[in-house]
Amino acid sequence: MIIAIDGPAASGKGTLAKKLAAHYGLHHLDTGLLYRAVAQALIAAGERLDDPDKAGAAARALDPARFDEALLKGHAAGEAASIVSAIPEVRAALVDLQRNFAARPPGAVLDGRDIGTVICPQAEVKIYVTASPETRAHRRWLEAAAKAQSVDESDILADIRRRDERDAGRAVAPLKPAADAYRLDTTDLDIDGAFRAAVALVERHRR
Ligand code: C5P
Repeated sequence: MIIAIDGPAASGKGTLAKKLAAHYGLHHLDTGLLYRAVAQALIAAGERLDDPDKAGAAARALDPARFDEALLKGHAAGEAASIVSAIPEVRAALVDLQRNFAARPPGAVLDGRDIGTVICPQAEVKIYVTASPETRAHRRWLEAAAKAQSVDESDILADIRRRDERDAGRAVAPLKPAADAYRLDTTDLDIDGAFRAAVALVERHRR
């Protein structure tokens, strides 16, 4: 079984994907890490983020076994990822890696922006996770506060809106729900509530 989870930043899709994978005994791939790693490789090499040749080469050279997740999960890598992810050469270089991952038995949960639309259009279950921008900004603010980082919630909200616009507005594989995706709005749901709703969707499909 392949489960495709798409949605904007801080919608809760990553946590949900991880929990679904554990629940159903499937592999999990956070595809955002791939774009973050491409951006990070360019930054480390002192290259521009918008050079298609350099970015494409960085994407082709990616080695997921050597990812430094703590570094990649940072704010800077996320911002930079949303720039390199609009480059067609980067997206093309990462397609096979994602599809090969999805094809590994017994199946996988992949989360990202274009899993249900481009990477795995044949996925048995597609869930498009959303939440209001204010709710997503508040979640990010709570995460930062828990790490004793002082950030302004309105700055986070502005970042989130900018990232949504960039991801949904790009020409290749824009962020959008697949026509056959279930929509799951987590604005008023906590993690457990979102997980229960997602399991209900998967079970409905399996029946
Ligand atoms: O999901 P995450 O916040 O880690 O993604 C970082 C950035 O990578 C996103 O803003 C988006 O631009 C890009 N991305 C993408 N396609 C995916 C996953 C992430 O374009 N499948």
